Amino acid sequence: MKILVVNAGSSSLKYQLYDMNDESVLAKGRVERIGMDTAILVHEPTDKPELKEVSEILDHNVAIKKVVDCLVHPEHGVISSISEVEAVGHRVVQGGDLYSESVLVTPEVKAGITSLFDLAPLHNPAHMMGISACEINMPGVPQVVVFDTAFHATMPEKVFMYPLPLRLYKKHKVRRYGFHGTSHFYVSHVAAQFLDKPLEDTKIITAHIGNGGSVTAVMGGKSFDTSMGMTPLEGLMMGTRSGDIDPAIIPFVMGKEGIGPMEANFMLNKHSGLQAISGGSSDMREIVEGMEKGDKGCKLAYEMYEYRIRKQIGAYVAAMNGVDAIVFTAGVGENSAVLRLSILEQLSWMGVDVDPELNKIRSGEPRLITKEGSRVKVLVIPTNEELVIARDTHEIVKKSHK
Ligand code: ADP
Repeated sequence: MKILVVNAGSSSLKYQLYDMNDESVLAKGRVERIGMDTAILVHEPTDKPELKEVSEILDHNVAIKKVVDCLVHPEHGVISSISEVEAVGHRVVQGGDLYSESVLVTPEVKAGITSLFDLAPLHNPAHMMGISACEINMPGVPQVVVFDTAFHATMPEKVFMYPLPLRLYKKHKVRRYGFHGTSHFYVSHVAAQFLDKPLEDTKIITAHIGNGGSVTAVMGGKSFDTSMGMTPLEGLMMGTRSGDIDPAIIPFVMGKEGIGPMEANFMLNKHSGLQAISGGSSDMREIVEGMEKGDKGCKLAYEMYEYRIRKQIGAYVAAMNGVDAIVFTAGVGENSAVLRLSILEQLSWMGVDVDPELNKIRSGEPRLITKEGSRVKVLVIPTNEELVIARDTHEIVKKSHK
């Protein structure tokens, strides 16, 4: 079965076409600057030359039409007809408390995702545009949605509730949902295979550190707690997001600066984090480079970022009364050996014995970076959210055919 995985954002769209017989990727690509007359499409078939095109792509419908054209293109295509695609799997950021697992798209599910627009105004509307575009360009092909929040549905009440007036939860569903669930699920389950224990007995902390970042406490294969909250703003310091701050700062700054809730939200999401403290960059490579050249802003940004990740890991050791393994994943987690070393050297008290040489190796494969006999194992595991989406879609569509 061939499955197309789509991750639709407001002005961009990423895709991968899988052959589920061997879970191989036949092609992947992206469309950027949707809505503009200079939109960019990059199509990368696995065994054929890449195709790059700049053209007018005014909406998601046109973007998906272009993707379909690429997939069946005589020179760059990987299938002879779009009817070979038997299902589409979509990433959806916010499933609220409506969805604790992936589901087949139906009119009710579309209404459900739409009812969550308030909770994820930047993401869910874009996902719906992706779903509609696929319905138009691939009529009759079953579609499945896989939620970033679903893995965290197992968090207990004491973890997901905020100590706020109860009516806010009852009326507006204000609670912790958590994000990056597909990634935390994938890497924690790969990590469990490195432990000589049944999955039910494992305690794993997964650190998904990319542009956005979150840490999850995974107990017995299930999410117990995670650092992102009702929105992806809570928790770690990130590329451009503040992460945890005293909530009273927000009304204080709004009053002093004369800004409204939209501007405050924008400041916290887009103009904070590494970018704000370093004085310009949200990219960990540039922060490390700046720090090595003696830039004070980059040094402070690095130290704050590292400290907040380490503090979060420490909190989850306490939350689970122990830990068997820590996993690093995503852009920064997989690639920044310097950051991993800074964090891990200061976790030696709890039995982390990092091997600086193993930590430096880049392989693109799951690997251990602690010494033999380290009480807590540390792994670097490349995440693969698209594969999880393809697998879930495959399972659900197979079941629906029965
Ligand atoms: P997103 O959250 O957008 O999916 P990614 O997981 O792709 O992000 O991570 C992107 C980030 O990874 C970049 O902002 C960059 O800071 C970081 N990154 C990529 N390569 C390296 C590297 N070699 N060293 C340090 N950081 C890196």
